[in-house]
Amino acid sequence: MQQERLLKILVIGDLGVGKTSIIKRYVHQVFSQHYRATIGVDFALKVLNWDHQTVIRLQLWDIAGQERYGNMTRVYYREAVGALVVFDQTRASTFQAVLKWKKDLDSKIAHGNGRPLPAVLLANKCDQQKYGLCSQLPKLDSFSRDHGFVGWYETSAKDNTNIDAAIMCLVENIMATD
Ligand code: GDP
Ligand code: MG
Repeated sequence: MQQERLLKILVIGDLGVGKTSIIKRYVHQVFSQHYRATIGVDFALKVLNWDHQTVIRLQLWDIAGQERYGNMTRVYYREAVGALVVFDQTRASTFQAVLKWKKDLDSKIAHGNGRPLPAVLLANKCDQQKYGLCSQLPKLDSFSRDHGFVGWYETSAKDNTNIDAAIMCLVENIMATD
């Protein structure tokens, strides 16, 4: 018998890091320089044929407008099973904000067993690396381990680099933990 799973995934991080672009790339295979800031909360759906028994309906929850506060309401977090935490490699301040987002996530939602939700760290805009924080990247292995991320990826929504891989990593972790 086929089983259907609905997975609510949060995409969080500072304004302009590429959250909406990553979702559009993953779900609709498009990229644009000009997404209007979404107002409120928006989500996109992608269906994955996971294995013979399982179809996954992946809900990717975007945010907008609220990023400036560095935290979200509990309603937004409710029933989420994983998160992508995004920063922009060309802006150091967005990397500094990563821990604030992770802390907000962990303070508002956990598994029934009390463990934090699986979260993957995305160093986005890697197509623009020459402007950015590349000297920091080797440190991301230990950074992500120390702060409880299940993995990290350099991504580009523009060039479609590692978006699928990052989301697969997250989904595999979610499926393995329940
Ligand atoms: P959000 O506020 O986090 O949702 O960020 P957006 O998705 O709206 O992206 C902000 C800006 O960064 C837009 O102009 C995007 O076109 C651009 N952008 C997003 N991802 C990338 C990327 O991977 N590479 C480059 N070069 N630009 C990107
Ligand atoms: Mg957006």
